[in-house]
Amino acid sequence: MITCPACNTDIDFDEEDLDEGDLFDCTECGANLRVASLKPLELVVVKDDATTSDDEEEDFDDDEEDDEEEEDDEKEKEDDYEEELEEEEDKEDDWN
Ligand SMILES: [Zn+2]
Repeated sequence: MITCPACNTDIDFDEEDLDEGDLFDCTECGANLRVASLKPLELVVVKDDATTSDDEEEDFDDDEEDDEEEEDDEKEKEDDYEEELEEEEDKEDDWN
């Protein structure tokens, strides 16, 4: 029996089945847990990279920096679009 560090619920996991670095989900709260060490058994909550890190970055970013990122994205999209058009023109040449 191990205890979830996120919700402090006892999880029905056999400690002997766990290895250091193992990842699993808490059956009670769904938290992503990682086995930090076996002796003593230590579990850590693995933060969801997709959401948590993004939120943290946004907190640190100024509004100005956000604007710059958006401009870069738009430029990249324009470049991609132009490349696609050029490719289509090339294909037309081949057909003719
Ligand atoms: Zn939990």
